[in-house]
Amino acid sequence: MSAEFIKILKKYWGYDSFRPLQLEIIESIYNNIDTLALMPTGGGKSITFQVPALAKEGCCLVITPLIALMKDQVENLRERGICAEALYSGMSFKDQEQAINNIIYGGGKFLYISPERLLTRNFMSYLDYINISMLAVDEAHCISQWGYDFRPSYLRIIELREKFPKVPILALTATATPSVVKDIQKKLGFSKKNVFKKSFERKNLIYRVRFSENKDADLLSLVNCCKGSMIVYVRSRRRCVEISNYLTIKGIKSTYYHAGLSPQKREEAQALWMSNKVRLVVATNAFGMGIDKPDVRLVIHLDIPDNIESYFQEAGRAGRDEKKSFAVLIYNNTDIKNLKKRISDNYPPKDLIRKCYESVCNYFQLAVGTGEGQIFPFDLIDFCDKFKFNAIQAYSSLKILQSCGYIELTDELNNSSKLTFTMDRDDLYRFRIQNQEVNDIILFLLRNYTGIFTTYSRINEKEIARKLNITPKEVYDILVDLSKRKIVSYIPRKKTPYLIFTTVRHPKSYLKIKKEVYSKRKELFKRKIDYIISYATSEHECRSIFLIKYFGQKDIKKCGECDVCRLKNKGLDESSLLYLKLEKDKIQYNSFGEIGEKKDKC
Ligand code: ADP
Ligand code: MG
Repeated sequence: MSAEFIKILKKYWGYDSFRPLQLEIIESIYNNIDTLALMPTGGGKSITFQVPALAKEGCCLVITPLIALMKDQVENLRERGICAEALYSGMSFKDQEQAINNIIYGGGKFLYISPERLLTRNFMSYLDYINISMLAVDEAHCISQWGYDFRPSYLRIIELREKFPKVPILALTATATPSVVKDIQKKLGFSKKNVFKKSFERKNLIYRVRFSENKDADLLSLVNCCKGSMIVYVRSRRRCVEISNYLTIKGIKSTYYHAGLSPQKREEAQALWMSNKVRLVVATNAFGMGIDKPDVRLVIHLDIPDNIESYFQEAGRAGRDEKKSFAVLIYNNTDIKNLKKRISDNYPPKDLIRKCYESVCNYFQLAVGTGEGQIFPFDLIDFCDKFKFNAIQAYSSLKILQSCGYIELTDELNNSSKLTFTMDRDDLYRFRIQNQEVNDIILFLLRNYTGIFTTYSRINEKEIARKLNITPKEVYDILVDLSKRKIVSYIPRKKTPYLIFTTVRHPKSYLKIKKEVYSKRKELFKRKIDYIISYATSEHECRSIFLIKYFGQKDIKKCGECDVCRLKNKGLDESSLLYLKLEKDKIQYNSFGEIGEKKDKC
């Protein structure tokens, strides 16, 4: 069979051979065995489900967390002449239907879907008509509460498995510690353990750490040495813009990317950078997942991330083409202090969590024993103002209350406008006849959003405007007017998230904050922070070994190129390292100097 797989690889991707472990993974899943593939970022995970899916009959369902990532992959497959579709929230009913039809009747090979959409009744009803060949779960670490990016909706993938017990699962991830590896297989209901793990060693990637009291200047000198494509990661959206402006003033063209930008702005920034029109992007951690740019030569972190997983993944975006590249972490003592503060920011004292619960109930004027199922638009800042909370701690408290099952806080992004009709059919019919000017829009709503007559449907004003040839503002005005006249109930898209009470209001003293969602997670969070701080501050272990050890891999050789190895290679023993600490700046600058000497390589 392997010849067949190579043929497919050559035909659609033009590659001659598989990378290490790809073929083994492909064979395993092709033989319908549940498989977990662990490969570092850039290792080539996508091919491991795409090739067997093309060799099998039917359609491969791909579960992946981010819409941007989905769109990218779908486009990428289409460019290769492969029929692929994506379903995500915000798509109109019509577009969804067309996508599904393409899969069912058009021989579609890949259907990408976000985990939240997967288990909607609407989608489940389509599933019976799709011949599912296999299930690919990308970024599979999201299923584990022990991972660094837990997404509760991933836990429900198992329900799909129960519905289609014969469909094999291929889970993919770039970062998983031994406990996460176990957890993924358990939560996905693997029939037996089956893990393929590619070494996390990235021989072409050189890790460096630099202590710096003047980050901006150090950043500039680093950036100036590098001719290739670069990413600079910073922690906050504000810093993201500031650093990008700073670099621009210094004559280095850059763009920036963070989750607070409009989708259009984000796409623009990404496109500029992907096409090499701009070499440098300053970004928050919102940037990167699934971005496949092979020739990134330098990834700089100007702040220390929360954990090794994130660092490894972000740094790993350098050098996907396996050519020499650098990952540099620049830090100082303020970073360490801030990082430690994040523990109490993310896990405030239990009393404060309880107080926050009580206040939020009061904010919405819910009496004890009432409120179950109620939804409110929620303005965190206003709430914090009124009840004198620190916004970060309040947000964390609400998230913990969510994990405890008392409330749900929806993300900003998922908030499309919602609408339902409140008038009965006969009255509506009369109303339409008497109000011809709004008849078009009412008809459009009824035809394009099934169920809208009885329950809220997500609507898209822009799309309605386009179809009816009016402006989105006009659509908005009409809908507000219809709402005032009690024809519809219209909840316009809001920047603020919604807060949903999933249970009745409990008396404060009855609130249960379980160990699993609080003390255990807090401890884990703290351990992760301690580990990454020791990565930054340690001066005795090869950076590559330090990072990879974290993922449970032993037997790796020293890289010989990181700042620690370089210092050691110069014949310095431990005691002189201590002395060198004083002169650290100078010495480490020299080790960067190499980037400067070989400008063309970087
Ligand atoms: P991952 O998901 O593991 O981060 P991707 O699947 O995005 O990685 O692949 C990274 C890059 O490697 C892509 O550009 C992909 O086309 C390329 N690639 C994957 N497999 C091979 C191969 N066998 N030969 C050459 N390039 C490959
Ligand atoms: Mg990937």
